[in-house]
Amino acid sequence: MFCYQCQETIGNAGCVKGGACRKSESTANLQDLLIYILKGLAIVGVKTRDKGALDKKYGRFISKALFATITNANFDDARIISLIKEAVTLRDELKGNCQIHSYPKIHDSVSWEIDNQEEFTEKAKQVGVLSTENEDTRSLRELLICGVKGIAAYADHAAILGKENDLIYDFFIEALESTTRDLSVDEMVALVLKAGEFAVTTMALLDKANTEAYGNPEITKVNIGVRGNPGILISGHDLKDMEILLKQTAGTGVDVYTHSEMLPANYYPKFKKYKHFVGNYGNSWWKQQTEFESFNGPVLMTTNCITPVKDSYKKRIFTTGMAGYPGVKHISDSGDNQEKDFSEIIELAKQCQPPKGIETGEIVGGFAHNQILSLAEKIIEAIKTGAIKRFIVMAGCDGRGASRSYFTEVAKALPKDTVILTAGCAKYRYNKLNLGDIGGIPRVLDAG
Ligand code: SF4
Repeated sequence: MFCYQCQETIGNAGCVKGGACRKSESTANLQDLLIYILKGLAIVGVKTRDKGALDKKYGRFISKALFATITNANFDDARIISLIKEAVTLRDELKGNCQIHSYPKIHDSVSWEIDNQEEFTEKAKQVGVLSTENEDTRSLRELLICGVKGIAAYADHAAILGKENDLIYDFFIEALESTTRDLSVDEMVALVLKAGEFAVTTMALLDKANTEAYGNPEITKVNIGVRGNPGILISGHDLKDMEILLKQTAGTGVDVYTHSEMLPANYYPKFKKYKHFVGNYGNSWWKQQTEFESFNGPVLMTTNCITPVKDSYKKRIFTTGMAGYPGVKHISDSGDNQEKDFSEIIELAKQCQPPKGIETGEIVGGFAHNQILSLAEKIIEAIKTGAIKRFIVMAGCDGRGASRSYFTEVAKALPKDTVILTAGCAKYRYNKLNLGDIGGIPRVLDAG
């Protein structure tokens, strides 16, 4: 295997004998094969698209398949294999529809056998990251692939809420297909920059999907303590799952808490109305092994980040959506536009002890664009008077490395007339420091 798609990569160079995330060699190889088949699907997609618009189902599928390969999302070989099989079916369907016979032979068939580990390992070596020998070409191709993986995650969440954009789906096809051709450095850089533009377009689409469904995030004090009822902990990013869980737990005596990336759910008006939505439990993804243990109740992983599951909570953790972990129960879509059914999790919660408190107090968040704009006058005034001298942006994912305490130290050391703008789970490095406010404006503005 060779994977260097995230900051946790071993030695800042690449994971080669299992991932720092504990991704196994077979999962890494299967994910390489899935990307390879998606490139084949994209080759046919480009040719088909020249003759007319592609059905949305191809873009939807590519979103989901790419999403399954992002860091800490899906470690379940059986699920990746089923995505590979589906990709082959869709590719051949498109090929048949358009009677295309002349695309590169390398993508022409699944000559390897995905149920045979030796064969697929060998094939993965031929098509994985290192199969591109020139380092500059490899870097630019992989940067683009990493970009579309991230865009795919946003696009999938937006699609779940009924918002789609054909241009985003077309870009997946353009980007994936481009990596199968010899392009100049300038052409590859242009595609990477285009991925940046599509990331913004897709975030805007997801923002529209979220805010139309659940209202604009608003300033909220989030409880980080616990109550005495049994609870369910929900993690990841999928707000539709959050909505369904809150509805299905209402009146059952089971409380709901967010974990890690799901913290921003606390800021949406439509969720805040549920009295059994207690607040947030714990910190960012890498502390989950101890926090899931002390939570005592069921945990629902709606997307990344799931880390190796300990036996102590294996029977009470569930995945849904594109998340997956071997041996962990997966809650699938119910189909026919029916809501997912979380009753098994709710029944399990009723038999569990209430969560053990690990901290008390509140954190303040909800400073997404609409809320910030409503505070604009106050903020501009504070800048004019010199009360606020500087804004510092510290955003992105948290990591488990000891050196990540750097961000805590920076936050503590910043002058009192500075404001930190943050988003992503890196915020857990400083969002409980009580850094105070400047004339009522919190010194950590959490956008989500
Ligand atoms: Fe390593 Fe896992 Fe990150 Fe890949 S996703 S670079 S295997 S830690």
